[in-house]
Amino acid sequence: MNALSAAQTKEMLLAAAQAVIESKPLLTEIDSKIGDGDHGIGMETGMRKAGEALRALPESASVNTLFKTMGRAMMMSMGGASGVIFGTLFQAGAKAVPEAETLEAGTLVPLFRRSLEAVKTRGGAQPGDKTMVDALEPAVLAMEALDSKDLCQLLAAASSAAAEGVENTKRYAAKFGRAKSLMERSIGHQDAGATSVQIIFEAMHAYVTKQ
Ligand code: ADP
Ligand code: MG
Repeated sequence: MNALSAAQTKEMLLAAAQAVIESKPLLTEIDSKIGDGDHGIGMETGMRKAGEALRALPESASVNTLFKTMGRAMMMSMGGASGVIFGTLFQAGAKAVPEAETLEAGTLVPLFRRSLEAVKTRGGAQPGDKTMVDALEPAVLAMEALDSKDLCQLLAAASSAAAEGVENTKRYAAKFGRAKSLMERSIGHQDAGATSVQIIFEAMHAYVTKQ
């Protein structure tokens, strides 16, 4: 599968939103261990608004518009650090790459590369700081290393690299968000935002596999 139509891209993003919404209890539990427990609530709110905004778009909306709309809805509804961070994940890359009517590797991979750079610039987190960057950066690197045109292969690689990244966050001490006040005590627990990134890539992979 080398391309998704804009309609399929919308369905893929809706599937990612749904997967995050269904993971609310898990995300709440993870954030409760080292943060303030609100990550599941924030992500659920953002993804519900993102879903509404996506469904309201006309059929003619480009791939870039779909991602940007999702990001904007999250940024406006979630508030706080993670609203900006997860809003940027969907919005920044889509703004930076050329307009596309279909989603192909040539859009998908640069889009997430540019989003990764924007998240790092805006949030100031580097790999190892126990944030969603620890899942997003390996996902982007895995897709770039694969250098494939097959969306299933690319998203499979991204998804497993993100999962590995989440595992690695257990070894790190938090430097950002509420979890930073726990510092060393956060070691042993996975990062909530990284888990959300993993869920998003897994859901996109699952959608593409079913096409
Ligand atoms: P808050 O930390 O304000 O309670 P959430 O609980 O919704 O927000 O989200 C926390 C998640 O956001 C963290 O697990 C982390 O992955 C991510 N995060 C927080 N700050 C940053 C940052 N500066 N850069 C990247 N990710 C961040
Ligand atoms: Mg929190």
